[in-house]
Amino acid sequence: MNKPTVHIVHHVDTEGPMCEPLDELFERIQNTLGYPINLAPSKENLQLLQSQDYVFVNAEVDQLLKKLIDSKLLNFKNTWEEVDEMLDRILVPAYRNKFEDSFGKGWIYNWHLLDHVGFETNPRYRILGYSGIFNLYKTKLEKLNIQQDALQWHFHPIPFNKAAHTSAISYMNSAYELQQVMCRRLIDHNWFPVVNRAGFHTVRPDINWWLEQWLPFDASNQAMITDNTGFNDNINGRFGDWRGAPDDWSLYNPDLYDWRKKGTLKRTISRCLNMNTRFRNIDNNELSRAFKLAETSGKDVYVGITNHDFREMSVEIESFYELLKKVAANYKNVNFAFSDTITAFRNAIGFTEKEVVDNNLEFKLELNGDTLKIQVINGELFGAQPFIGLLTKDGRYLTDNFNWGEPGSQSYFYTFDFLTIPLENITTIAVASNDKYGNTCIRRIDL
Ligand SMILES: [Zn+2]
Repeated sequence: MNKPTVHIVHHVDTEGPMCEPLDELFERIQNTLGYPINLAPSKENLQLLQSQDYVFVNAEVDQLLKKLIDSKLLNFKNTWEEVDEMLDRILVPAYRNKFEDSFGKGWIYNWHLLDHVGFETNPRYRILGYSGIFNLYKTKLEKLNIQQDALQWHFHPIPFNKAAHTSAISYMNSAYELQQVMCRRLIDHNWFPVVNRAGFHTVRPDINWWLEQWLPFDASNQAMITDNTGFNDNINGRFGDWRGAPDDWSLYNPDLYDWRKKGTLKRTISRCLNMNTRFRNIDNNELSRAFKLAETSGKDVYVGITNHDFREMSVEIESFYELLKKVAANYKNVNFAFSDTITAFRNAIGFTEKEVVDNNLEFKLELNGDTLKIQVINGELFGAQPFIGLLTKDGRYLTDNFNWGEPGSQSYFYTFDFLTIPLENITTIAVASNDKYGNTCIRRIDL
């Protein structure tokens, strides 16, 4: 019998450097814990708060405080140069091969690239702009000739105050920027996302429905057996609400109305726990449960782990690897592999290589006069329609719905005229879709 494999899938919420000035940090502590700090923001006062014998509120709150301001969690990469220096260390084969999976292969990263867009204030000095961080990573990986890593999707909805460090939860409130990110990555980089990592670990109905149109895989479930984080900023399921979702490392398809419930949507959701943050962390017990599931089911299991590129990732990777070696040693009949997210989803769902290849989505574009026709010629779309991105001669990026062909024909139409935009104003048409196996088809016409 073939041994099942636990796929270790490292999802990096890739957001570039981040600064946190002391006054910002003190404000964050107050907001997160829900108690005022009657101390001026200073290095000395931070050390005071961090010291074990300082009493802030009571034993319970003080324990949360110590977790929140653990010096390891505050050690941010402040500039791109600092992130870049880390990447030079952790991307090279010599580093990756320090970690060896059951197949003799080294560490793999899945970079979920964020565009900081739609913001008006930026107190933490994040890299702003469309494809800003995307370009830096793409160039870096190309320069080092890295093939094994994946580039995937991460998006932060835009808050009412339009500050780049404020968490928000509505894709609908961010519709313009969302479509711009999609269009620009498709047209400028020939790129289309397959796997989601939810911004702030958070899904809501509009996000659930948006994802269901385009992305077949979603590594966002943070359900825990007991999800009582104690932090004021997380009460009543405020962020990362996965209560009721499977907490046993099984994959599931979400419900139309409640992303946490098993349902009939096509997207597959995996579990993904934090590496050394203040809550929902991967630990011995959780990792053992994954190996146990592989052992008892005889099937591959998806283990997502996540952190940020604005912290020293090597520390978190190395401590996780120690844990992994310890746990894996107890399960001689289970392999583990460092995997890219798409391969891991395919194996954990149980798709065969043959069906993934045979059904590989393919469609063609035909331009007849001012009408564009998309015809699927192999496989099926994952979502309801393909995604269209248009670049106009005056530099605008646009998207729209298609007109649909005859029922069952797998064809879609778009008319360029005075009701939409005349064809003579267009320089590029790009159309993309995934299939349910995570294959992507992108076709374009440059005029
Ligand atoms: Zn994020």
